[in-house]
Amino acid sequence: MKRDEVLKLLEQVGAIRTGHFELSSGRHSGTYIQCALVLEHPKHAEQLGHALAERFRDLSIACVISPALGGVIIGYEVARALGVRSLFVERDRSGQMTLRRGFEIKPGERVLVIEDVWTTGGSTRETIGVVEQEGGLVVAAGALIDRTGGTLELSVPARALVELAVPSYEPDDCPQCHAGGVATRPGSRFVRSQP
Ligand SMILES: [Zn+2]
Repeated sequence: MKRDEVLKLLEQVGAIRTGHFELSSGRHSGTYIQCALVLEHPKHAEQLGHALAERFRDLSIACVISPALGGVIIGYEVARALGVRSLFVERDRSGQMTLRRGFEIKPGERVLVIEDVWTTGGSTRETIGVVEQEGGLVVAAGALIDRTGGTLELSVPARALVELAVPSYEPDDCPQCHAGGVATRPGSRFVRSQP
């Protein structure tokens, strides 16, 4: 899949929307991204996983690992396309990313970290840390969407299907608010009424 095909698909299913949004952080943005809305379609998830896997096919990957929850479905589909195991890390009660459920990484095993969206790349960095602690070798990291527009810096080679630079603003600085617009919350069912 080419970048434009991926973008078109994400827009078609509403995983990428343009408008005037209040994000969960409270900041305003003209773009809203929710990968769950494309990954809820198994056919699309498989297709995207296959496309992302192609970026890493030459790296002799032994297993894929993803941060839960957002990375699990796409990580699984990438693993399916590569014909390897799919693992995930999750937060324990203290908020620490850990490998649970009997998942094991063999010493020196070549591991690919897969996430749905990179905003700061924090979860991917934590996942890389867990794999290294377990003695695995992280050879690369991948995501469906890189919201940093390709400026993300990781300790391993990183490739995303789509790079998007998505600006966000404090409400006081939001150009659409200044133009008289009212932001909506895409995560909730109802549009907020004007105060
Ligand atoms: Zn605004």
